[in-house]
Amino acid sequence: MPAFPHLEHDTKTDVLVIGGGLAGLLCAYTLAQRSMNYLLIESDTICSGISRNTTAKITSQHGLIYNKLIQNFGVDLARMYWEANQAALERYRHLSKAFPCDFEAQPAYVYSIKEANVLEKEMHALEQIGAGAEYVDTLPLPLPVTGAVKFENQAQFHPLQLAAGISRNLNIREHTAARAFEGNVVLTDYGKITASKIIVATHFPLINKHGAYFIKMYQHRSYVLALEHTPELDGMYVDEAKTGLSFRRYQNLLLLGGGSHRTGKQGGNWTELQSFARTYYPDAQERYRWSAQDCMTLDAVPYIGQYSRNTPNLYVATGFNKWGMTSSMIAATLLSDMAEEKETPYAAVFSPSRTVLRPQLLSNVSSAAVNLLSVSKHRCPHMGCALKWNPQEHSWDCPCHGSRFTEDGTLLDNPATDDLKRNES
Ligand SMILES: Cc1cc2nc3c(=O)[nH]c(=O)nc-3n(C[C@H](O)[C@H](O)[C@H](O)COP(=O)(O)OP(=O)(O)OC[C@H]3O[C@@H](n4cnc5c(N)ncnc54)[C@H](O)[C@@H]3O)c2cc1C
Repeated sequence: MPAFPHLEHDTKTDVLVIGGGLAGLLCAYTLAQRSMNYLLIESDTICSGISRNTTAKITSQHGLIYNKLIQNFGVDLARMYWEANQAALERYRHLSKAFPCDFEAQPAYVYSIKEANVLEKEMHALEQIGAGAEYVDTLPLPLPVTGAVKFENQAQFHPLQLAAGISRNLNIREHTAARAFEGNVVLTDYGKITASKIIVATHFPLINKHGAYFIKMYQHRSYVLALEHTPELDGMYVDEAKTGLSFRRYQNLLLLGGGSHRTGKQGGNWTELQSFARTYYPDAQERYRWSAQDCMTLDAVPYIGQYSRNTPNLYVATGFNKWGMTSSMIAATLLSDMAEEKETPYAAVFSPSRTVLRPQLLSNVSSAAVNLLSVSKHRCPHMGCALKWNPQEHSWDCPCHGSRFTEDGTLLDNPATDDLKRNES
């Protein structure tokens, strides 16, 4: 990855992007393409967060989302969600020509191992919105499936290659964390940044005062094994169940994902994947493994737009529900349009200020209440929830909002912004 210096003194910019993951970088790239004055700050190095640990399927097929979208928002909005994601996929296709990134067109499949009727309902929803999809009965996977919904001409790629390519000439300061906000001024360790517009792309948004993201989201962890000596596999596959498996190839490796669970709770983790590999790919050898987590919203739609109703010049891109490739690209267009004060077609679909009255809200609130009252050796500096020890990854994890810390208290994942030790001493 290209390297960038830290900020050196107080500065002014029209648009400040905070966070150099895929969402922030694509925003900065789009602003640069439009000749806008911008600056991106990253607390560590670019793509050192979740974007380096993704499986990088670029698709508008986000599990079985379209039936849910029609039920919650109606056919028109569901169609707009699909169109926005298809447009994002096409922008990747276009970008990959200028910035080689192992981009490969592939079909995407969502399968079920239990229920055929959820797939049938999804097919019906897709017909209603006019998205071409095909129902298939069998898949080239070792596990028995009841069927699958297929989207043609989706894609997979190498996100770090793309990120390296697009960022090379961008105005970026690394090792420059946003520490505090005073209106339109952002404080860092190296000076103040005064910005007319601010885009928060820090994965979990870092301002608690507005937007109530701490009740609108939780984080969900997933695990990946990269396996050698497995059969060739075309296509990208994901189980419709939240705790199911995911498959794609990268060169000679099969990327097997799964073992997922809410951060701070028990789950299958790598053990489940290793056991699956032993049973179904007995010749496989584990070459790499990694894990990461993503922000999950109340209704499975990302929050992209104005941070809250009363913060007109503050924007956010978060809650990608493990579909952050197309969502980051949508954020880049939508937020650049907003920063330019232009009409933008999909603002209503992704508006962070839409209703919070969803069943998941109760679950988030009750989980927060339980964990605020629980006893633990460590409490999260974010909001005081009891941290849970994660024996697989040797970390202290927050079940409320997903902050994570190493055994010795160093911050691993936000929304917390401080190490444990500093706070507890
Ligand atoms: C295991 C796994 C597999 C996935 N697979 C897919 C997939 O196949 N397809 C798909 O579409 N999506 C997938 N996703 C989702 C996708 O990877 C994420 O949604 C996406 O990478 C998030 O990007 P981001 O830019 O929001 O966050 P990040 O990449 O985490 O970037 C946020 C950046 O902000 C920086 N930051 C934080 N705080 C500050 C601060 N105060 N000041 C400055 N900078 C700050 C961080 O250091 C970080 O670099 C997957 C997710 C997981 C967990």
